Amino acid sequence: MVPIIKADRTNGYSPTPPSGLYLALCRVPITLARYLMHPQFDPKQPDTPLTGAFWKKRHDLLAAVLDTAGVLVVVLDRQGRIVFFNRASKQTTGYTTREIKGCAIGDILLLSEEVGSTLQIFERLLAGESPITHETFWLTKQGTPRLIAWTSTALHDGAGEVEYLVGTGMDITERQQAERDLRESETRFRTLAEQSPDIIYIVEHPSKRPLYLNRDSLLGYSVSELEQPQEALLAVHPEEREELRAHWQRVVDSGTDIFEFRLRDKEGQWEWVQSRKRVLTRGSNGKPTQILGHLTLITARKDAEAQLRHNALYDSLTELPNRTLFLDRLTQALEPARREPPIPFAVLCLDLDRFKVINDSLGHALGDHLLVTVARRLELCLPPGDTLARLGGDEFVLLVEGVERLSEITHLAERIRQTVAEPFALRDHTVYPNASIGITLSTTNYDRAGDVLRDAEIAMYRAKSLGRGHYAVFDQAMHAYALTLLRMEVDLRQAIEQEQFCLYYQPIVSLVTGQIVAVEALLRWNHPQRGLVSPAEFITLAEETGLIVPIGEWVLREACKQGKIWGAKGLSLLCLSVNLSGCQLKQANIVEMVERVLRETGWPPTQLKLELTESVIMENAESSIKTLQALNDLGIGISIDDFGMGYSSLSYLQRFPIDTLKIDRSFIRDVTLNSGDAAITTAIIALARSLKLSVLPEGVETEEQLRFIQAQRCDEMQGFLFSRPVPPEQIANLLREGRSLFNGNGRRH
Ligand code: C2E
Ligand code: MG
Ligand code: MG
Repeated sequence: MVPIIKADRTNGYSPTPPSGLYLALCRVPITLARYLMHPQFDPKQPDTPLTGAFWKKRHDLLAAVLDTAGVLVVVLDRQGRIVFFNRASKQTTGYTTREIKGCAIGDILLLSEEVGSTLQIFERLLAGESPITHETFWLTKQGTPRLIAWTSTALHDGAGEVEYLVGTGMDITERQQAERDLRESETRFRTLAEQSPDIIYIVEHPSKRPLYLNRDSLLGYSVSELEQPQEALLAVHPEEREELRAHWQRVVDSGTDIFEFRLRDKEGQWEWVQSRKRVLTRGSNGKPTQILGHLTLITARKDAEAQLRHNALYDSLTELPNRTLFLDRLTQALEPARREPPIPFAVLCLDLDRFKVINDSLGHALGDHLLVTVARRLELCLPPGDTLARLGGDEFVLLVEGVERLSEITHLAERIRQTVAEPFALRDHTVYPNASIGITLSTTNYDRAGDVLRDAEIAMYRAKSLGRGHYAVFDQAMHAYALTLLRMEVDLRQAIEQEQFCLYYQPIVSLVTGQIVAVEALLRWNHPQRGLVSPAEFITLAEETGLIVPIGEWVLREACKQGKIWGAKGLSLLCLSVNLSGCQLKQANIVEMVERVLRETGWPPTQLKLELTESVIMENAESSIKTLQALNDLGIGISIDDFGMGYSSLSYLQRFPIDTLKIDRSFIRDVTLNSGDAAITTAIIALARSLKLSVLPEGVETEEQLRFIQAQRCDEMQGFLFSRPVPPEQIANLLREGRSLFNGNGRRH
């Protein structure tokens, strides 16, 4: 007969349960069953009449026992109606006995999709299969499904017919969820491990037998190969073999360790591997039994680290060591120098002359090319084992160790100078680079690398000041000079703030009338301690520090204002000459600056001449032409100062919008004594005339010089013979007098 597990609720709970039910219920636990059973009860004769009171008592006792059981106990009649429902069942489902009693199980407790499978279990029980274990979802009163693991049994009446079905169940919802979570997480981690490019494994300790492996091999080696030191060690870099053994020992001793080593792959290529190990389990004696290993290929990271280290210590353009590495090597060189006997060394600091001009005019790419070529040439000069570095820009430095005599190092400096000076063919230009070299020796007893470098640089600047392609050996006087310069720079900045500058003016006289036709404004520094300081002492420094730009603007403004003051006093002055530095000429806004000053002071541009030295305009000839043309377009005259000292290209000279050549006073000085200087002066005057330029000899001090110049028929002159540079009031006096500063026969008034 098929049970109706979903049906009407008419059948009630029997007050006198038949004996079969008790038999079945008492099967678990057996001892309890024995106690519960009446001594008169004979299971072979279940129909033995016993009193109702006895059964009632037994029933209550049994119900109480079943209610205290932690498991769910449910009794159904063979129609599937609930006959008994213990407390655990009520707690799990939320139903009371009243609500549940007599209900068909399928109506109230089963999920609809579970009805079919539950029916099958009923049929199997009815067919005699017992007990049956199965998992079935029950629906609580709140509608939440709970998964119950059941053991179901059929109870038979005296005739052997199935009378009741008894189920004991455990709510395994949480456990099952936990198991599912565990399974999922295991799957996740397994997938992660399997996806990992690393080898992740667990080995037994000390046998090193693999227990788990996420992949078979790394660089062609199996884990067994890698973890059997004697075999793997052959493939490990000799420098790391010993440490790799120690790595295992450290894991065993301290529970964890990380080690990086090189491993040769099967093709013979070295690769970096990181090994991370951790003790996973320990035996009862505390000794590791399983070790978790992680092998990662880290060659790319190692390469990147090496590249970063390299970048931090090497110059990317020339691949030479940089300042940091050089100072490091120098510090090391200073260490043995303190030992007895000291190992002497020398440091040579080298700077290319006029590199900036090459860079600016030919472009940075060719400038870089030149630097690389110089680096390669210097390497050829370098004794083996010594250090060549690039400090930056066009500055290179050499550390030469074991130098006994100064002559050795000066020979080296000479060789370097010659090697560097060989012509470079840069595109369609040929460049003849020169290097200035500063040398310092460890005999100065240095303590710090920075001091050595500083002195080599000081000597290099001295070499530069000697002209192109020189070398100089550092001495204490240079150091003192460098300190003076440093102090002067501080003072110079203060001088600007505290307006310690003033202008003197030197008359420029007409060769014809001897009268003042113009004045040249010459800067003086009214130093609070040193008194009037000559520009020769500070102009170069002002140029190097860039301070010349604000100073130069001040000079122009001051001179123009002074010109106006003289004019206001009715003193006529044809022209003002103002010196302009190379740094000023390179300023992008130089033309606007001059224009602005003229506008603000009201000085006419046609009565202004700007003096630039020959070397300044030739240094950057093409851009100079443009700037000078713009200034010239404003009506300003241009003079070339100290002409004859530089290396003017005559073809350029023609293209510059120049008005005047000022012949350098070094030619004038010996013009009456030295026929060579006389010849040069004559030639310059002839050149100026052919280029239709006026010519102005500077530094005329003697009547003989004046006569020579007069014979050459120059236009104007300047020199102590007529007047030294003087303060503006004295110029006013001279202008007021309006007299000739020499008599027509060349005699001074
Ligand atoms: P410079 O422009 O060639 O000026 C002429 C220099 O020759 C002046 O020196 C002047 O005093 C000196 N001098 C003139 N006649 C004679 C003479 O007969 N005999 C001798 N022995 N010297 C004579 P100073 O004033 O010392 O100026 C030196 C240089 O400093 C100037 O040479 C110029 O290049 C620079 N300088 C002066 N003022 C300025 C300025 O405002 N701006 C710039 N950038 N440079 C300036
Ligand atoms: Mg001048
Ligand atoms: Mg001059």
